[in-house]
Amino acid sequence: MSRLIMALDQGTTSSRCILFDRDAKIVSLAQKEFQQYYPQPGWVEHNPREIWSSQLSVATEAMAQIGAQASDIAAIGITNQRETTIVWDRATGEPVCNAIVWQCRRTAEDVEKLHEKGLDETIKAKTGLVPDAYFSATKIAWILDHVEGVRARAEAGDLAFGTVDSWLIWNLTKGKVHATDLTNASRTMLFNIHERCWDKELLDIFRIPSSMLPEVYPSGHLFGTTDPFLLNGEIPIAGCAGDQQAALFGQCCFREGEVKNTFGTGCFLLMHTGEKAIRSEHGLITTIAAGTDEKPRYALEGSVFVAGASIQWLRDEMRMIKTAAQSEEYATAVPDTAGVYVVPAFTGIGAPYWNPYARGMAVGITRGCKKEHYIRAVLESIAYQSHDVIRAMEQDAGTSLKELRVDGGASANNFLMQFQADIVDATVWRPKCIETTAMGAAYLAGLTTGFWRDEAELLQKEQIGRKFTPTMEKARRAELLQGWQRAVKAALAWAE
Ligand code: ADP
Repeated sequence: MSRLIMALDQGTTSSRCILFDRDAKIVSLAQKEFQQYYPQPGWVEHNPREIWSSQLSVATEAMAQIGAQASDIAAIGITNQRETTIVWDRATGEPVCNAIVWQCRRTAEDVEKLHEKGLDETIKAKTGLVPDAYFSATKIAWILDHVEGVRARAEAGDLAFGTVDSWLIWNLTKGKVHATDLTNASRTMLFNIHERCWDKELLDIFRIPSSMLPEVYPSGHLFGTTDPFLLNGEIPIAGCAGDQQAALFGQCCFREGEVKNTFGTGCFLLMHTGEKAIRSEHGLITTIAAGTDEKPRYALEGSVFVAGASIQWLRDEMRMIKTAAQSEEYATAVPDTAGVYVVPAFTGIGAPYWNPYARGMAVGITRGCKKEHYIRAVLESIAYQSHDVIRAMEQDAGTSLKELRVDGGASANNFLMQFQADIVDATVWRPKCIETTAMGAAYLAGLTTGFWRDEAELLQKEQIGRKFTPTMEKARRAELLQGWQRAVKAALAWAE
């Protein structure tokens, strides 16, 4: 009997493959970085061929490391960088140009035009998204309008569009399957998340032929089987979800009100909202959550633009620390920030303030302010910003947070996690294995193929790394939060 599940984790900077055993423990991991292309300021591209070859090579490597055969692998789950757009020829499998990466700003002006035409409301109502160049729609339109001959080929039905998951499924099945899952579809800005289908009106607005689009299935679904020559045997592809939704699933946030925060370069927060698609009054996004059947599941999503990046800034630009981990030593060397607040609004400030012109601000500095205080204030700012997103989610959803599940590189910082628990007044729960994105993909594939019985079984397998319980006095929390809000006001005033 097959003993492993393979997770393919196709990220923005690297492709990874992790093999999990029945206890959901990692038994093998391989990773490969690939090239980023910046053809113009603000533009970001990947070569789809490199995405595919790096992904295939790490799959082979992860298997070889432990001598696994295709027959050892019960199923494959895919998780991927979201929104990144690829268009390829159905006959040859050849991409018509490089992939336009989610970060790429080349279509920012096209989004402005949507705004001027008064389409924001229509788009938001149908897709749950606040129109932005991140999402795939304007990227596909750009390719159709700028790559020679592509529009005619698309209109003749010769071209296929896909996010990275579709591209991988296409290649894994040698062009037999052109499909995506609900979570990835919900990031294209072409998908009606309420009716759960491609939206005719949006396709017309963006002038995208419907023949280009992949079939959409639940995240847990038998998408196809791998071509037998790729991994020396046929393996079912049985799970697929965008990275943040996969992390929510990997954190076992299956039910309404459950929230995860991924502390990476930025923070990505998702709150499961059950069968309700909640419309945000605070500029958050409504998106589809992963599941293994047709039942609708939604989530509210919010992000903090600068989180771990502020620690990189302390290290690389301010040169106050040598490693990210050192920030914890400095922060715990003082009892508080001595009244200092740092608002790292380097590129503006997001939910719930939304001001793109705000800039970084340090306030409350006195003669006694030491590097330790400053570093601590930067770490605390990550927790304050997450706090603000969580409170916005609570207001939108009408629930209150009981527990916050965390992962990502900066979740290793114990000081930050304790402060986060204190500031949101909820338990912060860090799993032993913080590879939750890959785990989510593996869970979806494992549940779909019966490798794991049900969600209850997965909950039993969950392993706590560490729990952080709030200990801060109510009055102290209120005082600190008031200080933070004044600091944000100062950063906003600067933008005026
Ligand atoms: P991403 O997936 O966005 O690249 P990761 O999840 O790999 O991010 O996390 C890396 C980020 O976490 C970096 O911005 C780094 O500064 C931050 N980081 C890593 N370790 C720590 C730590 N111990 N304390 C604070 N921040 C950290």
